[in-house]
Amino acid sequence: MEFKGIKAQYLAIKDRLAPRLQKILEEGSFIQGQEVLELERALAEYIGVNHCITCGNGTDALTLVLSAYGIGPGDCIFVPDFTFFATAEAPAKLGAEIIFVDVDPETFNISPRSLEEAIIRVLKGGSLKPKAIISVDLFGLPADYSSLEPLAEKYELLLLEDGAQGFGSTLCNRPALSFGSAATTSFFPTKPLGCYGDGGAIFTRDSALAEELYSIRAHGQGKNKYDNVRLGYNSRLDTLQAAVLLTKLEALKEYELKTMEKMAQIYSKRLSSIVGTPKTPSSVASSWAQYTIKLKDAKERNGLKRYLQERDIPTMIYYEKPLQEQKAFCYLKALQEPCPTAKALGERVLSLPIHGYQTEKELDFICSSIEEYFSL
Ligand SMILES: *Cc1c(COP(=O)(O)O)cnc(C)c1O
Repeated sequence: MEFKGIKAQYLAIKDRLAPRLQKILEEGSFIQGQEVLELERALAEYIGVNHCITCGNGTDALTLVLSAYGIGPGDCIFVPDFTFFATAEAPAKLGAEIIFVDVDPETFNISPRSLEEAIIRVLKGGSLKPKAIISVDLFGLPADYSSLEPLAEKYELLLLEDGAQGFGSTLCNRPALSFGSAATTSFFPTKPLGCYGDGGAIFTRDSALAEELYSIRAHGQGKNKYDNVRLGYNSRLDTLQAAVLLTKLEALKEYELKTMEKMAQIYSKRLSSIVGTPKTPSSVASSWAQYTIKLKDAKERNGLKRYLQERDIPTMIYYEKPLQEQKAFCYLKALQEPCPTAKALGERVLSLPIHGYQTEKELDFICSSIEEYFSL
C-alpha cells in the first residue's frame, strides 16, 4: 500500500504530462523556460496574490525571504517546536536566534498564547530583538492567522507563513499561502502539490519584495544575467518540474482535494471513538498533507505502527523529536522554555496513509485493522 499515492498519481496523469515534458526536451529550455513563468502566473492566481517566485526547494524559499528581509545575528525568530527541521534551520543558518514556541494540542499549530508569552519574555530579557514569527500550516491545516496577524501587528513583527504542507487549504475561504507579509511552500514529492524532485515557491503581495526575490534567487542579478547587484543564491525551479506542477495543479483542483476530504471524513467517522482524530475548525478546509491520529502514549502508538506494518499499511511519525531537542539546536538551549505539548505529541502521534487516489476499500481495510488492534 502507498502512503502518499505517488505511483497511482503518475498513472492517472501520465497522458497529460508526457507531451508537456516532450516539448521541453525538444526545445531544450531547461532553466527559466516558458513553463516556469506559466506556473508562477497560475499559482499566483490560485492563491490570490500578485507574485509567485519559484525557487529550488521549500528550505531555500524560507532562506530567500529571510535574507531579503535582512534577517541575521541579533534578530529573534519565533518558530513552533513541532514542525519539520527546515522551518528553524533556515533562519538559524542566517545567524538569527530561534525561540521555540509550544503548539496547540488539537490543531498541532503554533499556540498564539504561548507565542505572546515568548515575545514578552524576550522583550523583558532585553538582549534580543524580536523580529519575525514563522508560522507553519502543519499537516495541511492553516495556522490560526486571525490571532497571529494581530499579534504580529501589536509587537511589530514580520509574519512569515511556512505553507510547505498547506498548499490547497483555506481559512475563512482565504487560501493558505496568502497570509503574513510573505509565504513559502515546498514542492517536495510528498507535499500536497509536489513535483518529481525538489522545488519551492514564495508568495507575496509586496512588489518590491518580489523584485528583490527574483534577483536573489539568480545570483543577485540586475538588468540581466551578467549584471550582479547583490550577493544571491542559485535557486531556481527547473522547467521540467514546472511542467510536472502545471499538470498536478490541474489534478489537485479537479479531484485530489475532494477525494482526500472524503477519505478524511471516512477515517474520522470510523476512528473517532477509539483514537484521537484531527479536529478541523469549521472555518478551515484542510489540504490533508497528513491525517494524524493521537494515541494514549508511545507504547500504544508504537504497537499500532508495528501492527499496521505487518499488514503492509505504511504509517509515519511526524515529529517524534521536538526541534529544541535536536542536537543541531543544542547551542540555543539557554534561550528556551519547555514546550510540553510538542513533547507529548511526539510520543503520541501517528500519520495514516492519505492521498487523492485512495479507495474506500483501502480505507476500510486500514480502519478495520486499527479496530482489530484495539480489540486484541
Ligand atoms: C517540507 C518542509 C519544508 C522544507 O521543504 P523542502 O522543499 O524539503 O526544502 C519546510 N517546512 C515544512 C513545514 C516542511 O514540511
